[in-house]
Amino acid sequence: MDVFARRDVCEVCGANQYHLLYEKTYSDTILTHFLEQYYAGRLPIEELRDGQYEVVQCEKCGFIWQPNILSDDYMAKLYEEWILPEESRTSFTHSSLHRRQQFARQVWRLASHFPERKPHEISILDFGMGWGEWVLMAKAHGFDVCGLEISSSRLKHAQENNIPTITKLETGYTFDIIFANQVLEHVPNPFEVFQQIASHLKPGGIACISVPNGDAITREIHNPDWQPGRKAIAVQPLEHINCFTYKTLMALGRRVGLTLTQKSQWRYQLANLLPIPTANIPKLKGLTLYFTKGTFLLDE
Ligand SMILES: [Zn+2]
Repeated sequence: MDVFARRDVCEVCGANQYHLLYEKTYSDTILTHFLEQYYAGRLPIEELRDGQYEVVQCEKCGFIWQPNILSDDYMAKLYEEWILPEESRTSFTHSSLHRRQQFARQVWRLASHFPERKPHEISILDFGMGWGEWVLMAKAHGFDVCGLEISSSRLKHAQENNIPTITKLETGYTFDIIFANQVLEHVPNPFEVFQQIASHLKPGGIACISVPNGDAITREIHNPDWQPGRKAIAVQPLEHINCFTYKTLMALGRRVGLTLTQKSQWRYQLANLLPIPTANIPKLKGLTLYFTKGTFLLDE
């Protein structure tokens, strides 16, 4: 069973010319120490020893990614065994009031794109629903919700909470809103995933995509700090294998036929004009962009 798989083509523009930003073998103490701590000793470090942690950047579009990723079999172990389902579930189901407030705000913000409709007339897909914390909030507001997930433990949890679920997007499924929170940075094929999202969005619908903000990574990667609150989280080994910036996420959206809503554009253009490095502004640790498709441009 192969431990690693290789990706040599840029997911954002399709080019295969890139340069190396950072490399370390997985036997290097800086990485073994981080992995042992982060996965509380559950990760078989020995099996990863010969692998190389690399961060590269596309020559053509500037997209940053890890070409060496876990194989499908090891990816499954990562998300179902090394990350303990029970521990991960509790971190969501026992989340703070502040976090729930943020989710509620996000539900309201998304619904504001459809001022003429009542919640039950708006269909929402939570793509990569996880433990369903966000989709439960949308459900509590009366929206017509559905969660997409492949993990059996998370699907079971959703069923216990009466959340309608699907395991893949079949022909004919369409939604007014597709919400993908902290998904694209984890998947081996973000282009294909974003393409699916775009093709299952209704005309005039909104795709809300949230990822860690990689705007400062070319500066931070040379001195990564893998401690809590670490700076280079947007390229975290094994898990954050795609690192997006405002520019590259927008470019990937364009490649799948989606455009940014106007407010998404000016918010990040303004942030880019600020003299302070964006990583120092807490709200920009995450990058959330609203995309739309269709004959008219909606605003937030
Ligand atoms: Zn590229």
